Amino acid sequence: MNCKEALPLIHEYLDGDLHGSEAKELKEHLIACPACRTLFKQLEQTEAMVRSLPPVRVPDTLTAQIMSGLPPMKKSRTWTDWIRKHPAVSVAVVFAAVMFGSYMSMWNDDKNLMVKGNDLQEVIIQGDTVIVPQGHTVNGDLVVQRGKLEVEGDVTGNVTVIDGSVNLASTAHISGQVTKVDEAIGWIWYKLGEIVNMIGS
Ligand SMILES: [Zn+2]
Repeated sequence: MNCKEALPLIHEYLDGDLHGSEAKELKEHLIACPACRTLFKQLEQTEAMVRSLPPVRVPDTLTAQIMSGLPPMKKSRTWTDWIRKHPAVSVAVVFAAVMFGSYMSMWNDDKNLMVKGNDLQEVIIQGDTVIVPQGHTVNGDLVVQRGKLEVEGDVTGNVTVIDGSVNLASTAHISGQVTKVDEAIGWIWYKLGEIVNMIGS
């Protein structure tokens, strides 16, 4: 089996549709091929993250951007369905996430909630509330826009809340800085700071 043959089988396996000799061949390939093994682990994590998420709608503009050049899709698809139905795109997303330091974003179009971070599988989203549960560690930065952030666990980077609130429980531990940005002007300063940091680093 080569890598090109292994990829669709990885998706079938993660969907629970792979049995018998194909499953055995895939397993043998994963043992022999570190690249596919890494991809398999990342897709497994993506699946786990997708399963743990409430249905989040993809904004139409974003959808249009991603879907240009791809077959048309129904508008009402949720983000999670969409990733499941487009495994090739989810692979591209995973590769892109790895390339750009696993930085991922999620949008909830209805509530305009936006959550950004490297480690979003550690985060629970309930309505417009983003929870870092006790005993969980979010590696890297966490950005929440137009939502309530409840931190009961650990964040190893900076926490930024834009147009929202932040509540730190006694069990919370944040290694970086907590920044609250409330107004449009504050947001511009925040963006400027981000750009300056990017240039500086
Ligand atoms: Zn391979």
